[in-house]
Amino acid sequence: MTSVAIKGWCPSAHRPMHSGDGLVARIRPRGGRLSSAQAVAIADLAERYGNRLIDLTGRANLQIRGLCAEAHAPLLATLAQFGLIDADAEIESQRNMLVTPFWTDGDDTQWLAVQLERALSVGCLGLPAKFGFAVDCGDERVLAPNSADVRIERSADGGLMLRADGCPAGHPVARQQAVPAALSLAKWFLASGGASGGRGRMAAHIGNGARPPHMLVGASPASAATPPRPGLCSEGALVGLAFGQLLSTTLRFLAERAAGLRMTPWRMIFAEGLSEMPEHDGIVSDADDPLLRVSACTGAPSCQATHAETRTLAAALAPHMPAQAHLHISGCTKGCAHPGAAAVTLVANVDGFDLICDGSTRDAPARRGLTRAQILADPRALLGIG
Ligand code: SF4
Repeated sequence: MTSVAIKGWCPSAHRPMHSGDGLVARIRPRGGRLSSAQAVAIADLAERYGNRLIDLTGRANLQIRGLCAEAHAPLLATLAQFGLIDADAEIESQRNMLVTPFWTDGDDTQWLAVQLERALSVGCLGLPAKFGFAVDCGDERVLAPNSADVRIERSADGGLMLRADGCPAGHPVARQQAVPAALSLAKWFLASGGASGGRGRMAAHIGNGARPPHMLVGASPASAATPPRPGLCSEGALVGLAFGQLLSTTLRFLAERAAGLRMTPWRMIFAEGLSEMPEHDGIVSDADDPLLRVSACTGAPSCQATHAETRTLAAALAPHMPAQAHLHISGCTKGCAHPGAAAVTLVANVDGFDLICDGSTRDAPARRGLTRAQILADPRALLGIG
C-alpha cells in the first residue's frame, strides 16, 4: 500500500491529508487547465474512491474528498495516466502556480506557464510549501489580490515584467527571460533568508526590509481588474461554485460541454467555448447571486478541527447581506475559506460563534458566544447589516 501522510500542512496527491470525511488529495492542474478528458477522469475518481465531493481551492487546485487509504495507489496510477501528478511529492509541492484564466491561444500566458512548470520540475529548490508563482500577463492583472510570491505580469507599457510580491514596482523582462528571472528571484528569496522552518512568504520578507537586486525599478504593473464575477466572455463562461465545492456530476457536466476547464482562485471555473451560462446543481450563474457574498469553510462534519457546521448557516444568511458586503463563517480561527478581512466574520469555538466586524478570524470580536438560533433569529440586526 502506498504510504499516506497522517497529517499534512498542505495536502497533495502524493501526500493526502486526513480530514473528518477521509483523506483529501489535492490535484494541481497543469497551466491551471484541465482537458475535458482529465476533468472526467477526476470526476470518475471522486465517484469510485471518494465521497463525490470536489473542492476548488483558493490556489485554483482541485481536491478529491472522502478517500480511504487503500484508494491512494489506484488514484495515483490514474492521475499519472492523465498527466496530473509529478514524479515525486517534493517536485509536486513546489509546482505552486496561479495562471490567469483569461488567456487566448497564442498569447504569452500558456507558453510562460508551461516553461515555468518545466523549470520547477527539474529539481527541488526547497521553497516553503505556501510559496507560489503567478502568471498574470493579460491586459489587466486579475490575480493581484490572490496569493503569490513571484509574479510575471503585464506592465503598464504593455511589456512583460517580473515583480516580487510586496513590491509596488518590478523589472521589465523579455519573453524568453521571464521564467529564468522568476526562478532567480525565488532563489534570491531563499538565499537572503526569506524562509525558515519550511515557512516564509515574499511580501513579509520585503516588508522586513529585504530588497532583491535590480528587481524594484523599471516597470510599473498594468492596472488591476475589478474582481471577476460569473458571466460570459468571448472565450467562454466563468461559472461560480457555491462555497468552492462541486459534485463529481457537476464537474462531469461542465467537462462534457466545454472544450477545457480553467481553474481560478475565485471559487469559479472558466468553461472554454461556452456561449450560454450553464445551469446545474451547485453552479452559480448569476453575478448577483447572494451566495457570492458569503464564504464558509468545510466545517462540520468534514473538518476535524471545526467547532460547528458552517455552510448551511452561511447559505441562510446570504440573502441578508448587502450586495457589496461579505460574510465569512469559519469553523475555527484558521480561516481557510477567507484569510483576509470581511465586513462580518463569524468564528466558531467551543462557546458558540464570535462576531467580528471589518476584520478577520484573528481580530478581536465585538460579540462572543452567539448561538446559531440567536444569529438566525434576526440576522440583519445582529450582524449590523440592517
Ligand atoms: S477554518 Fe478551521 S474548521 Fe474551517 S476548514 Fe479550516 S481548519 Fe477546518
